[in-house]
Amino acid sequence: MSDFVLVVNSGSSSVKFAVIDAHSSSEILTGLAECLGSDEPRMVWQHNDADDQESEQVLAAGSQHKVAIEQIVKIINENNLTSDLRVIGHRVVHGGEHFTSSVVINDEVKQAIKFNNKLAPLHNPANLEGIEAAQHYFPNLMQVAVFDTAFHQTLPETSYLYALPYSLYELEGIRRYGFHGTSHRYVSEQAAVFLEKPQSEINIITAHLGNGCSICAIKQGESVDTSMGFTPLAGICMGTRSGDVDPGLFSFLIKELAYDVDEIDMLLNKKSGLLGISQFSNDCRALEKAKQAGNIKAALALDIFCYQIAKTIASYTVPLGTIDAIVFTGGIGENSAFIRAHIIDQLKFFSLELSEQENMNKRFGTSGCITTNKGIKVLVIPTNEELVIAKDALVLLNQYSSEQGVS
Ligand code: ADP
Repeated sequence: MSDFVLVVNSGSSSVKFAVIDAHSSSEILTGLAECLGSDEPRMVWQHNDADDQESEQVLAAGSQHKVAIEQIVKIINENNLTSDLRVIGHRVVHGGEHFTSSVVINDEVKQAIKFNNKLAPLHNPANLEGIEAAQHYFPNLMQVAVFDTAFHQTLPETSYLYALPYSLYELEGIRRYGFHGTSHRYVSEQAAVFLEKPQSEINIITAHLGNGCSICAIKQGESVDTSMGFTPLAGICMGTRSGDVDPGLFSFLIKELAYDVDEIDMLLNKKSGLLGISQFSNDCRALEKAKQAGNIKAALALDIFCYQIAKTIASYTVPLGTIDAIVFTGGIGENSAFIRAHIIDQLKFFSLELSEQENMNKRFGTSGCITTNKGIKVLVIPTNEELVIAKDALVLLNQYSSEQGVS
């Protein structure tokens, strides 16, 4: 029997999907519906076993998640994959304190996801739409939710509580949740394989650097601190997000500069970070090119980015004590030799010796070690959140089947 899993990642205006063979870890079909709700929604997909040609289809104006999932059903049918599908795995951004691991979706789970809407108003409602559409079109398949926050539910109180009145945590759930958990979990597991040690014997710092960026301290396999917080806006400078700023800034913006809440949200989420400093781009590739051509603000944006990352990595010596490896992942972490070198250069205290050759070699999907020193290793490991979702879904299905005595 096949071990094919449909992985669905519903964003506010997009649905990413993949049919993955969880047994061989290979992607059979991948695709994306984007610009949902707009005048020109469209869908692109690719069957990786076929001729590798990307197919494209324009969807009716205003089409939402349900239409996208209906289309995904058609594509899966056309590629004769329907009967091979065993389970569906959904990425869900916010599991709050309800979920410490992946779960089979039932009405209670859907209620809990809905309850967390207020913590992730852009993401959770979209995730739920994807789940409901998939339940509609695949009523006989088990659906599983994999949460971005679940991996960080091991954080101790000292790192998840803010120094605010305790009642805000108790009554409103205001605390650090952390995000990118599926990615931090995956690359830390892969790092343990690379280091040939059980996770319970190693401490790792993982840096997920993409459009969104977060860093995680992982002690003996458990997340003990992470840079994102109550929302994915916190921590280090990102593509367009500010990361941490002085909380006193908000009243200044409101009282002195007459900002309203939406303008502050826009400023911190969409106009800041690499884009805000460079006044030019949020794309690391474009900034590296501009820096080489002498653009001072592009260079400054990259300097700030690397400084904040190095400082956060160094600070995680506090919860970890000793460190076995630092792992780079995400679009920037996996591909930018320049950014990695610039960060490592600022971690002098760790006595890291970068191999320039290995740093250049470990790009575009290649993984491995880029330092030559004894002690702390610096690894590049491409992330694969879809594979984690597929594997978790299959594990839960198999568990359920064996409990029911189904073979
Ligand atoms: P998302 O968080 O949206 O999934 P990604 O993980 O794909 O984003 O990362 C996007 C970032 O990766 C962009 O800033 C992009 O410039 C950067 N990136 C991709 N390839 C390279 C490269 N070769 N060199 C430098 N940066 C790169």
